[in-house]
Amino acid sequence: MRTRLRLHHIKLSLTAWQHRGDNVECPCCGGQFKAFLPFGRQLRPDAACPACLSLERTRLLWLYLQRELGFPDIAGRMLHLAPEYILRKQLLKLAKQNPQFQYHNADLDPQLADEQADLQALPYPDQHFDWVLCSHVLGHVPDEAQALREIGRVLKPGGIGLLLTVRSGSAHTLEVPEQAVTPADKQRLYGEPDLLRLHGDDFIQRIQAAGLQVTAIDYRDQFTPTQQKKYGLGTGLRERIYRVEG
Ligand SMILES: [Zn+2]
Repeated sequence: MRTRLRLHHIKLSLTAWQHRGDNVECPCCGGQFKAFLPFGRQLRPDAACPACLSLERTRLLWLYLQRELGFPDIAGRMLHLAPEYILRKQLLKLAKQNPQFQYHNADLDPQLADEQADLQALPYPDQHFDWVLCSHVLGHVPDEAQALREIGRVLKPGGIGLLLTVRSGSAHTLEVPEQAVTPADKQRLYGEPDLLRLHGDDFIQRIQAAGLQVTAIDYRDQFTPTQQKKYGLGTGLRERIYRVEG
């Protein structure tokens, strides 16, 4: 799988020149293009970078790390769960250049990251990480409350977790018992067949219920409409950053 992913990205970077232009710019890979590409089961326009496949949320998260958390001039240890290809690549490069920065990336599927980990039982000591990145994972984890407690457990005091999820825009999270729905039902209800829930605005209360201090940040609002278009920062439904404090 890892080889297949790598080949896919090599193929993409070879074809990226076809999309060259100066209308949009990917903060993750630095490429400039005519447009970002449509992406998703329900196609979203201006979504995927033609070169690195970053999505709206990936680009916003990278901008947040750089502009708000001081990357790349930082010291500490990061855990990156279900790592996005381009962020993993950039953060591995940073760890090589900056000995003060230690980078761990993990996924339930060992083919998709350097370490294997179940978010509901993380194989790391208490208070071990200065940062935890967990983007668009919590909608897929069976025991979400346990996963949130695990993130809180491995964060150092003063550490920062950045959690993102797919939101419906409704007040309440939609969650039907797993055994009561088929993948086709989930596609219809949640928009994706492998989601176990579709978060509403109460995602913040679900995080708080796990004992975490959290602030919801619509970071794309820090950018002008022109900049939002240039960097392809989405509509806000998938890009809200929930910043938790260890
Ligand atoms: Zn890119």
